[in-house]
Amino acid sequence: MSGAGKGAAAVRLFDAHCHLQDPRVFSVAPQLIRKAQESGVLRFAVNGVSEKDWHLVKQMSEQHPCVIPCFGLHPWYVEERSPNWLSSMKEFFNAVPCAAVGEVGLDKGSHGKEIDFSVQIEVLRQQLAFAKEVGRPVSIHCVRAFGDLLEVLQYLLVSLVDGLKSRYSSAICYPCYLSDGPFPAGLLLHSYLGSAEMVPEFTKHGAYFSFSGYLTTMKPQKAKKMLKMVPIDRILLESDAPDGFPRLGECSFSLVPGDASIPQEQQIQMGDINADTTKLPKETLNHPANVSTVLHYVAKLLEISEEELAEVSYRNATHLFSYPGSKVSAES
Ligand SMILES: [Zn+2]
Repeated sequence: MSGAGKGAAAVRLFDAHCHLQDPRVFSVAPQLIRKAQESGVLRFAVNGVSEKDWHLVKQMSEQHPCVIPCFGLHPWYVEERSPNWLSSMKEFFNAVPCAAVGEVGLDKGSHGKEIDFSVQIEVLRQQLAFAKEVGRPVSIHCVRAFGDLLEVLQYLLVSLVDGLKSRYSSAICYPCYLSDGPFPAGLLLHSYLGSAEMVPEFTKHGAYFSFSGYLTTMKPQKAKKMLKMVPIDRILLESDAPDGFPRLGECSFSLVPGDASIPQEQQIQMGDINADTTKLPKETLNHPANVSTVLHYVAKLLEISEEELAEVSYRNATHLFSYPGSKVSAES
């Protein structure tokens, strides 16, 4: 594992999903961005999670040309939403026309199961409908709810066909019109940990599969089987920082300056560190530069070179995030 991060500056990487506006890292975000850029991570899709942090995402987008702002209501926070959350979200899109949608989703995991699932579904549907309407990609969190997510996508597809039918009485070719799936602007399944069997289903709906340090929680054989099902032009890499710290055993990684969960001795060496990541505390904050560590792991499982995976995932993210009005252009 000692190769992780080495020579990373020679490749370019795109952090397709992170939360640098998170209160745990917001004050050091400029340092994190600088350090990550030095290790080759050139762009950061920063995802808001609730009405409370959208203004911080907007602020980061204004301060950093490399930040792609995303506004969304995460399933964990749906019950705290205000009555006018959706119109407020739309106002952020008017004020920040380069934004994408995220983080949205469904969660039946240990935390998510405490939250009314019918509300999660309703809020997700509204946000997906909005993403479609404005033609923006949408970053989706899905924990133990992949079947439910597919149903929501299918429902949107059916209502789209019904809408077309009522608008056009002549024989329009629906299958042709819908050949890109219901989301031509793309869906990003963030920190994907679903099964290999689900991959083709989501691919049909325009999904990209984004991998983070959480992939190290999956059995390597299972992760490998799933990764090999993902079309190469649909693979993305992300940090999900400050969460998703990669637990790879002995490898090279970066720590967040001032992380209170790290013992004092390790605080001193905040550069690239080579150590056993499984021995670090559970609360260790993740650094966006650790996309290099994810690159190392995914390339190893896919049995391709880190250079090839870096380049292809960078190009995929560029393609996904180069919608009209975006800071990212298709040529970059
Ligand atoms: Zn996230």
